[in-house]
This record gives sequence, C-alpha cells and structure tokens, in this order.
Amino acid sequence: MVRDTPMLRQYLEMKEQAPDCVLFFRMGDFYEVFFEDAVLCSKLLSIQLTSRDKNHPDPIPMAGVPHRAVESYIAQMIEHGYKVAVCDQIEDPRAAKGLVKRAITRIETPAMFTSPDYLPAKDNRYLAALCLVGGVAGLAHLDLASGEFRAASVEPGPPLIDELARLEPAELVLAESQQDHPALAGLAQAGVEAARSNFAGRPPTPAQARQILGERFPGGAEAADNPALAAAAMAWQTLVATRRCQPEHIEPLGLYEVGGHMVLDATARRNLELYKSIAGGGRKGSLLQAVDRTLSPMGGRLLKQWLGFPLLELERVEARHQAVDELTRDLAARDGLRQALEAMPDVPRLVGRASLGQAGPRELAGLRQALRALPEVRRRLAGFAAPLLRRAAESLEGLEPLAVELERALAESPSQALGDGGVIAEGFDQELDQLRQLGGQGKDWIAALQASLRAETGIGSLKIGFNRVFGYYIEVTTAHQAKVPEHFIRKQTLATAERYFTPELKEKEAAVLGAEEKALELERRLFDELRALVAAWSGRLMDCGRALAMVDVLAAWADLAVSQDYARPLMSQNGALCIEQGRHPVVEQMLAAGEFVPNDVLLDDGAQQVIIITGPNMAGKSTILRQVALICLLAQAGSFVPAARAELPLVDRVFTRVGAMDDLARGRSTFMVEMTETAQILKNATPRSLVVLDEVGRGTSTFDGLSLAWAVAEALHDLQGRGVKTLFATHYHELTELADKLPRVRNYNVAVREHRGEVVFLRRLAPGGVSRSYGLQVARLAGLPEDVLRRAREVLARLEGEQVRATAPPAKAQGAAQLPLFVAAEHPALTRLRGLDPERMTPLEALAALDELRRLV
Ligand code: ADP
Repeated sequence: MVRDTPMLRQYLEMKEQAPDCVLFFRMGDFYEVFFEDAVLCSKLLSIQLTSRDKNHPDPIPMAGVPHRAVESYIAQMIEHGYKVAVCDQIEDPRAAKGLVKRAITRIETPAMFTSPDYLPAKDNRYLAALCLVGGVAGLAHLDLASGEFRAASVEPGPPLIDELARLEPAELVLAESQQDHPALAGLAQAGVEAARSNFAGRPPTPAQARQILGERFPGGAEAADNPALAAAAMAWQTLVATRRCQPEHIEPLGLYEVGGHMVLDATARRNLELYKSIAGGGRKGSLLQAVDRTLSPMGGRLLKQWLGFPLLELERVEARHQAVDELTRDLAARDGLRQALEAMPDVPRLVGRASLGQAGPRELAGLRQALRALPEVRRRLAGFAAPLLRRAAESLEGLEPLAVELERALAESPSQALGDGGVIAEGFDQELDQLRQLGGQGKDWIAALQASLRAETGIGSLKIGFNRVFGYYIEVTTAHQAKVPEHFIRKQTLATAERYFTPELKEKEAAVLGAEEKALELERRLFDELRALVAAWSGRLMDCGRALAMVDVLAAWADLAVSQDYARPLMSQNGALCIEQGRHPVVEQMLAAGEFVPNDVLLDDGAQQVIIITGPNMAGKSTILRQVALICLLAQAGSFVPAARAELPLVDRVFTRVGAMDDLARGRSTFMVEMTETAQILKNATPRSLVVLDEVGRGTSTFDGLSLAWAVAEALHDLQGRGVKTLFATHYHELTELADKLPRVRNYNVAVREHRGEVVFLRRLAPGGVSRSYGLQVARLAGLPEDVLRRAREVLARLEGEQVRATAPPAKAQGAAQLPLFVAAEHPALTRLRGLDPERMTPLEALAALDELRRLV
C-alpha cells in the first residue's frame, strides 16, 4: 500500500472480506469505488474516473455513484456478471470520533439482488444450491424476496437438468470442486442460464447440515442423511453470508420429491410453450400468458408454479377443481374477491423487505392496506364449502393485533423517505407529539414575525425564508435597503436582494431545528421498532400471503373458465382420455371468436391407444397434438379445460417430440436431436404417460425416416407389454398401414377438401388415413409462381407413373428380413438426392450438395 491513511486501510480491510466482489464504499452521499474497481465501474457504468489524490505521482483511481441511485448501479454491475459488496457507515458520521465505522452490510449477487424495482412481479428469483454426493444430487432452491425455501434429492443426469430447467434459477451455487461435474453437462442445452457461484467451503456433512438448519428452523429437517438437506444448508449459508443476517420471513424448509409432479422435461416445456413461445421467445404466445388471469403478484408467481408442477394425486387435483367449480358458480363472491385481490400489494415480498430491515414507510403502509382488506376477503370466502377455500380463510385470521398496531403507529399517508418526517401517526407517541408541537410553534412564531417586521419597517415585500445552508433569513429587495433597521445583521448578498438575520430569529431557529431534528430521530427509532414488529409476525404474514396467492389463482382459474367457456374435467386414476370439442388454449385466443374448430379425441388402452394422424402440412395436426397435451397439463395444474367435456386420466409425464427447427441453432443436427429425444421417450415412458410425436423421422432421408417412424410407433404400442397413449402425426402415409397390423392403433386424418384444384382446410379430425399430400396445393396457397407449380405437376405425374409402389414394411412378427425392400438397390446419386430436404438447406448447403451429386454420376 503506497499511502497508508486510516481510511484506505479500512477500505482494504473491507476489500479483503469480499475479494471476489466489486466494493461500493460509502462516503457521505456517495458510494465510492477505488483502484481496479474504479476503472471497471467507470467503463461499465459510464461514470467519471477521477482520483483521490490528484497531485500524487501515482494517484489512486476513484469513481463514485450517488447513494440514492445505488440500486440501479448495482443492477447494472450484476447484469454485467459481477457481484457487489455494499459497505455502509454503521454509525452516525456526526457522532463518530475519528474514522467512521463501516461494515459490509450486504453482498449483491444475481439471486440475492432483490431490489423491488428490478424484480419482475410475477416471477420468482431463485438461488439454487447443488450438492452431489454418492450418485445422488441434493438440490435446494430459495427465493429471498418471497421467502420460499425447498429442497429435493434427485438423480443426477436428465432428471436433475430438467428440474433446474423448470426452476430457472438466477444463480447456481456449488462447491468449487463440483463446478465441472459431469452431471451438469447439458445445462446450457436445456436453456438454464443461471450464473455460477462457488460455495464458500466444503459441502456440509449430513450432521453439519442438520445443525446449520436446526439453528434457524428448530424442530424441522430431521430426515436422516438426505443430500437435499446438505443442499438446503448450502443455500441457507449462502443467504446468511450475503445478507449478513438470518431473515425471519424464509419459510421452513419444504422437502419435496421431484417425481411427485407430472414430469415436464426441458423439451416438453419448450415444445408446449409453457412459459415462453418458440417464435418470440417471450411470455407472449405462451400457455402461461394465455391462462394467467391472476391479479396479485404473489398469485401470478403461484400460478406459474402450478403450471410448471402439475399434480399427480387425484384428491389434490380434485380439491383444486372443486374450489374452482364453486368459484365459477358465485359471480358476486368471485368478483368481490378479485376486486380485493387487485388492490392487494405483494404481501410476501413486503414481509421479506421488513424482515431484512429494508422496508420503507410506504411499504409498511402497503402491508397495512393488505391487512385492511383481509376482513372483506374472509367475508367473501365464508360462503364456500371447498376445503381449499376454507383453509385459506383460516390462514387469514389472527392478524388483528398487528393490524391494530400498524393503524395506530403509521401516518395515513407517510412520506417515501424516513428522513422527510410525517411517518409516525399523531397520538402514537407523546414525546414525538411534543417535539412536533415545539417545532410547529416555532414556525408559527416565525410566520408572525414576518407580519410584524413588515409593519415595523413599512417594507411590504419583506419576507422570511429558509434554506439548508443559512437557516432562516430575512430578505429585503435592493430597492428598500434604506428602510432596513439597524439591528438587522447582513448575512448574504444576492443580485436583487440582501439577506439578514436578527439574534431573536437565530434563537428561534435553533429551537425549531433542534425540535425537528429530535422528532426525526425519534420517528426513525419508532419506525425501526414497528418494522421489527412486522418481522416478528413473519410466519403468520407469510401464511396469509400464501393463502391470498392461492385464492387469487383459484379465482383466476374460475374467471378463465367462465370467460373462455372451459369445462371441469372428470379425472380418473388411469381411465380413458376422452375430450369432446377440445380446443387449443393459446391458438384459440389468437383467432377471432368462433374461428377455432374444436375436435374430439379419444385415447384408451384398448383399441384406440395409438392414433396416427395424417394430413397435409398446415392442416392442424400439431395443433391437435399439443392441445391434448395442454388439456392434460391444465387439468392437473388445477384448471378447467378448453373443451365441452373431458374425461382425463392422471398423466405421470408428457413426452413431446415436435419439429426441431429451433435446435439447429444449438449446433446439433436436427436428426440427432430428434433421435436423442425419441430415445429418451422410449426409455422413460410408462403406461401412464402421454406421448405426442410430430413428424418423427423427418430429419433424415425418406426411407430411413419412414423405417424409424414405423419402428418407434411399434415400440410405443408394445411399451412394457401394455403400450402408452400416443398421438403420432406424420406425413408418411405408409404409416397408416400400421392400423391393420397392430391391434391398438387407429388412423385419423385432419380433413381437407379440394375445391377446383385448391385445398380448403377443414381443421377437423376424422377417422381414417389420407392417401395424398396436397403439397402442391399448399405451395400454391403460399404463393409459389404458377409456372413453377405447373412444372411441379408435370414432374409429379412422371414420378407417380414411374413409381414402383413401395409396400409398407411388414409387421414385426414377420421378421426383419423383408425390410430391405425399402432400400432396393439404386444409383447412389439417387439415394443421396432422395435424402436431401431442400426446405431445410441453406443456399450454401444446396450448392455443396449439387457439387457432390455431380461427382456421383
Ligand atoms: P400442421 O401440424 O398440420 O402442419 P398446424 O397444427 O401447425 O398444422 O396448424 C397450422 C395453422 O392452422 C395453425 O397455426 C392455426 O393457425 C391453424 N389451425 C390449426 N388448427 C386449427 C383449428 N382447429 N381451428 C382453426 N385454426 C386452426
């Protein structure tokens, strides 16, 4: 250290405590950064780089940000991938003797940064902690803002990756030695973009984990040797280390089972556009956006969780349906509830801010607002019989003592900042009232003084003003200087006026300011006490917040059901899947009313277990496929479904394999992705799953593709000797022959009609296969020039004439010997040509292929 001043020594000490962070060091009204941090921040935050000791030969670089705007700068640094340690003055600088005491009060990281302006209302921001021991992974997730805290043990590999993809954590903490663990391969592929952090220290042993968690959550978490506990302890320790406290509002650890919910792997979530649309990549066009009618932020977050974690237990699903059912029937109660919820602030996050000591006056006023609305919510809930609603009503009880205290203590409209005064209500504290009175009287006296001085001097424009630097002053314009009495003492000269004071004015000023200052200080203390009281009520308040969130979601499902004409599904453990007049929840909303054509779908474990759907491109095959999957998902999330009537079995997992165009960007070939996903399905599907396959085999040459599609359909039909409910859309008409060969396969097609050489889409699913593709008609619809179409028709006619009708492959029982029929010896150039898919080639690839073909002939 070149210059050994006490302040710099203090700075370096702090820096040492948080070596991997940029250190924001509070000095007066600024947070300053020094040395390399200063260079970095000046660049990233566009703030000026100066130095602390300009005349020194080797000046220390320095930059600063105003303390009032510090959150926005922290947000930017985190966005750039840095962590920020915030070092505050922890004693009043005016009272400090010598160097002001300072300490790091918080470390801001991607998951821990929960400043309200930078936190989307309807999303969680999770810190995930991962601990890999003995072939099992413990995975914990914690949301500092809303207090959620859960953990599970999960098999490393795809289940772990899927769970992380589902949680979308902002940050993933794991021991340094495990950062490159093979179990994490595929994280990026699954779209998990969490920032990685090293856990400070070794992962805790089970005994240590129990001890760490037991300190804060006595009585809970006794499950022996569960890796989930170790991960939870890691998450908790990370929280304590970064927030420097043990916040009250974090809920007791909830241990859950990953298999306890319908499994939606990363592929299914993407294909079904659960949270994000494939096209836009945003919430718009997603299932979430189409069905989210919640009105409160906590309701919005819970609905998102319910969609991502559909239930597997019949009773729990039906409990939600029952509540929604009752809510659909009572319009008045539902509207009343929704009105109350709309005005509701984000209760869990407010409680969180209070327990972290960050909530300001307006935030506590928001909490009071919520408590005021509770009786109305309870009254509206009183008429319902559904256990979920009754339980919610109970959770809203018992908060009256806190409500009374907040009413008494907090001013009706408190100022934003504590230092501005007017936060604590009148009549709450006698001393405060007296101080305010003194200050007020002094001000009255000063106002009266102005009137009497005007009379005394005859200067009508004389006025008494106040500013922070000079305090109270008497101002007289230059024109009236001659009339200024002797005893006025000059203080300041302005362009057009002079400012004076008198000894009696100074004396009053001291009294007024003294009283005001004391009042502010007292207010600050009283407010701190009030905030601590709220923190002490955290547990009850969090229960209340959860109940409100649930009521919001149930009422939102009811509102959706009524406005979109959804029906309550009849659920069964493992019966048939029967949808009458089903619709696609998202596509339906994008079309004008009445434009969407509903369809019936029946899947059972008898004669109609595997449905092969043929039809030309754009007919509506994918839409039907996805709509069946989405209906199952919505039902198990607790919602009614877009259908006139539906009987649904509980589905343990939805598998999808849908057009893989988007994967091209990820650097794997379409075919490879397709086959990997198909392999996953065949390996993991159970007879209780729902499999949705769109165009399997498309990524390779026709014969390869057809053979694979054929074999996959057979495998699903025979899965575990019982088969699995499958919807299989294909443009290989040959597959329709499977229905003749396998007992549980049925053919359907999405009907089109030809009208004067043009194709009309009927969007209707009808029994039976189709025998032709209508490709040329669709091409015309798409605007391909007429001469190209004419030429295509000629070529088609010739090809059809030449074609030796390829028979469909034989059923399995007849053995594989006949399969080579498909690959009848032909010229290699022809085989290569058949394998090309011009729709999926770039011009460059097309050129290369042409060159290759020429070499072959
Ligand atoms: P395919 O999978 O057969 O190529 P899609 O399912 O992608 O066809 O459907 C193509 C378009 O047709 C969809 O984007 C949608 O706008 C429309 N569509 C599909 N199904 C229906 C329907 N049942 N009612 C109205 N429009 C539909």
